[in-house]
Amino acid sequence: VCKDPPSVSSATAKMNGKSACTDVMDYVLQKKLRVWCSSPNAKWELGQIKSISGDDAEILLADGKILTISPERLLPANPDVLDGVDDLIQMSYLNEPSVLHNLQLRYSRDLIYTKAGPVLIAVNPLKEIPLYGKASMLQYKQKTKDDPHVYAVADLAFNEMLQDGINQSIIISGESGAGKTETAKIAMQYLAALGGASGMESEVLQTNVILEALGNAKTSRNHNSSRFGKLIEIHFSETGKMCGAKIQTFLLEKSRVVQRAQGERSYHIFYQLCSGAPPLLKKKLSLKSANDYTYLKQSNCLRIDGVDDSKMFTVLVDALDTIQISKEDQMKLFSMLAAVLWMGNISFSVVDTENHVEVVSNEGLATAAKLLGCTSNQLVTAMSTRKIRAGNDSIVKKLTLTQAIDARDALAKSIYAHLFDWIVEQINHSLGMGRQCTWRSISILDIYGFECFNKNGFEQFCINYANERLQQHFNRHLFKLQQEEYLEDGIDWAPVKFVDNTDCLSLFEKKPLGLLSLLDEESTFPKATDLSFANKLKQQLSANSCFKGEQEGAFKICHYAGEVTYDTSGFLEKNRDSLHSESIQLLSSCKCELPKHFASVMVADSQNKSSQSWHSVVDTQKQSVVTKFKVQLFKLMQQLESTTPHFIRCIQPNGKQRPRLFEHDLFLHQLKCCGVLEVVRISRTGYPTRMTHQQFAERYGFLLLRSIASQDPLSVSIAVLQQLNIPPEMYQVGYTKLFFRTGQVAALENAKRKML
Ligand code: ADP
Ligand code: MG
Repeated sequence: VCKDPPSVSSATAKMNGKSACTDVMDYVLQKKLRVWCSSPNAKWELGQIKSISGDDAEILLADGKILTISPERLLPANPDVLDGVDDLIQMSYLNEPSVLHNLQLRYSRDLIYTKAGPVLIAVNPLKEIPLYGKASMLQYKQKTKDDPHVYAVADLAFNEMLQDGINQSIIISGESGAGKTETAKIAMQYLAALGGASGMESEVLQTNVILEALGNAKTSRNHNSSRFGKLIEIHFSETGKMCGAKIQTFLLEKSRVVQRAQGERSYHIFYQLCSGAPPLLKKKLSLKSANDYTYLKQSNCLRIDGVDDSKMFTVLVDALDTIQISKEDQMKLFSMLAAVLWMGNISFSVVDTENHVEVVSNEGLATAAKLLGCTSNQLVTAMSTRKIRAGNDSIVKKLTLTQAIDARDALAKSIYAHLFDWIVEQINHSLGMGRQCTWRSISILDIYGFECFNKNGFEQFCINYANERLQQHFNRHLFKLQQEEYLEDGIDWAPVKFVDNTDCLSLFEKKPLGLLSLLDEESTFPKATDLSFANKLKQQLSANSCFKGEQEGAFKICHYAGEVTYDTSGFLEKNRDSLHSESIQLLSSCKCELPKHFASVMVADSQNKSSQSWHSVVDTQKQSVVTKFKVQLFKLMQQLESTTPHFIRCIQPNGKQRPRLFEHDLFLHQLKCCGVLEVVRISRTGYPTRMTHQQFAERYGFLLLRSIASQDPLSVSIAVLQQLNIPPEMYQVGYTKLFFRTGQVAALENAKRKML
């Protein structure tokens, strides 16, 4: 679009050193173009160069003021014809203020989607916008509209699946509250519309209702925050009909069930159940209102503005019915939820000077026991005593107040986490029924983005590790593989640099001296503490450039998205995640089916898989949380590697969940975290679309108006390109493939449509 000569080189200017950059600026100064001025408060201001006097430039700002500033503090701005372009690769000057300006301008016009080469950027509108629904879907399906949209991404994935016969994936990332889950749902709705009419699509869509009830909660950043990661694999038949799905979940935040920050809530389902259960169900579960449960009322937030929990309960039951979860299974689910709530009301009284406790015989105890299918005595034993081995004998010891509360909460958390897994299993069972007709699939990944708070613990450690893995996948596909392919096929190409995070990943994964191995090792030492763990890291990892020891009990990791300081308190306990044998024994002796099932899962989880008895759990070590997570992540990566990926980066415009508000620093930080600028650079200078000579000739060969002498694919391809007047700078011919700049294939498809 822009004919300014140095603009093309400016794409790589920032990467290739200062001289190119100065060239661009000289040109801008000479022509008195628009510029961005960096002001002391770090905000960028748009202005026009008036004159150059000595070493300084005089800039006319938008408000009419003249600013005298050193040219070093200027960056070129794009000509105003480029304001609001829908793909960042069209920008002449790619710098932070220009990208921000463009996205902000679009956002103010409710254009929340923008392409960054092959990546879709989605800025959360935080209000309803008229971009969705049947009519809009139809426009994307019929290709009468091609503005950036989630629909366009889903459409591309669907068509590539059918055309190439390859599984696809849509990888959605971003911070909490950025709009990942909504985006995933929008993509699913579009796929359901394309692959509909099998009856399965409504079931697949309803999974969201159930997963959100059990896995989402109100946090300070998002009133419907998913507290787990999710991969949903949607299956299609050879004719493109949706025929089933499979859900995989990652790392549910189970601590939320027993405690959380003030003003936040536990999982939606608890409040829905308390306010929406019909009288008969209420009676069966001895259910009271949310305000009567310690686990719910402690954070001083029972309601969410604009949300009717009671109505949502009906919606939930409808979804459970749609997915054919039997009424009997629904009853099991609700009883376990009620049991967890009642367990939270169990209290303890201190009986001696050493803080040992006894369980208070109250309504909580009796009701929890009833719902679990055990006696009050069994529950008392599990919550207030420990069997200690003394030689061949064992003695029973009373627990202290803290130990007893921990035992109670650990059991409640464990029941909830297993209940979550169980319901996912039931959903998968139900959605798996139709999968006989499966041919290919599209997987949608909705997983927490990189996190950096004032205080970061074990959860952030795991989440950020997952993000390093995902970032590597992103890098591999958008930078590495692409560039390797150029070189292999012998085309003319100057490599583009990107932030390679291999070193950081190996800091986590190296054996035996990596973060995960050291954490696991320390977790098996009975005498180890969170502090000794931190010291061990400092001793062993200080030579690693991505690691920095911090003050007592803390360490720092240099992530691709920035440095994060982790506080080790709680690391060992959370990584072990063990439930005392007394609690497992209790669950296995319950009359109700679910607690028994949970106990058997726990036993099977322990490393000694041959033994199916709870007794063995006492002495065996179960797989640690990070190891389990790592295995899960590796499987996920393997699965994603076999697909054609499509990336969506969600961005939250502000930290206040308010529409129309755009906070620059927060926005910029997110852009940096997701590597969008580098992607634009490589896409603009690169050739993101490639096809073998054979593929190209097959797809477009019939367009040839004249017959040509040689019918080999390469000759056919070149003849087609010439006939359609594709400019030579828009493609390169490699040994085996043709490489196209962005947008060229759309142009070819357009030509094809016109000729058909
Ligand atoms: P995340 O999963 O990234 O934490 P969510 O998808 O839950 O974020 O989005 C947070 C909130 O932002 C939603 O509850 C909704 O109110 C709003 N939101 C997100 N995407 C959209 C959208 N496309 N249109 C309207 N509102 C949206
Ligand atoms: Mg979410």
